[in-house]
Amino acid sequence: MEIEVLGGFGGECLGCRMTCLLIDDRLALDAGSLSEALPVERQVGVRSVLLSHSHLDHLASLPFFIENIFGKSEGPIEIHASAATIESIQSHLFNDAIWPDFTRLPNRWLPTVRFHELKAGQPVEIEGVRVTPIPVDHPVPTFGFLLERGGAAVLWSSDTGSTRRLWEIANSLPALNALCIETSFDNSMQEIADLSGHLTPHTLERELEKLERSVPLLLHHLKPPCVEAIRRQVRRLANPDVEFLEQGRRYSFS
Ligand SMILES: [Zn+2]
Ligand SMILES: [Zn+2]
Repeated sequence: MEIEVLGGFGGECLGCRMTCLLIDDRLALDAGSLSEALPVERQVGVRSVLLSHSHLDHLASLPFFIENIFGKSEGPIEIHASAATIESIQSHLFNDAIWPDFTRLPNRWLPTVRFHELKAGQPVEIEGVRVTPIPVDHPVPTFGFLLERGGAAVLWSSDTGSTRRLWEIANSLPALNALCIETSFDNSMQEIADLSGHLTPHTLERELEKLERSVPLLLHHLKPPCVEAIRRQVRRLANPDVEFLEQGRRYSFS
């Protein structure tokens, strides 16, 4: 399983793109930066989009991605998300006010976009990847995901504060190649992090006490103004398993 990090941050500025991973060139996990990170020819190759939740840093590029591939892709783009996320997108984004309703364009029978509802704990096969949605703790309904293909397994947290199920799954899997866990704010913003359902290096350290195995930990979703302080504070944890997910890198798991 190849995972290319198109956007690895929880916000946007020069050099920091918003959350978006590309799995085996065909499946996008979140769509924070799908349109600006890839040339149009590669966007046309993306057949399915998996969305963790409705926050803008996870779907901001969706309208422009869909416009770019309109009329070029074979069949509709399949968007997989929870019922709550689908409802939010339909009410607040593809509502013919903010952006056209691509579930009815060019017409209702040949739509550009089709939605598929994901349910917690129920695995689905998408573009050859087995995807299991895992509820995490964030102010809107949010899924982390277990991604499996062949013998490879990767856990991805999405946005979360202190959580439980993700760690239970991490501990129960026979093999796990990597665990991507968010660290959005630095310790000076602990109160904001707690209120907004995110982790800091301090709460990350506490969360990691729930992990009963050694596994490569890839930190992601850093807020751009906090990057330097988070890196300093994470270094002080002196945890040899911890690295930062690198934007632009293609990871290979087998
Ligand atoms: Zn986010
Ligand atoms: Zn969020």
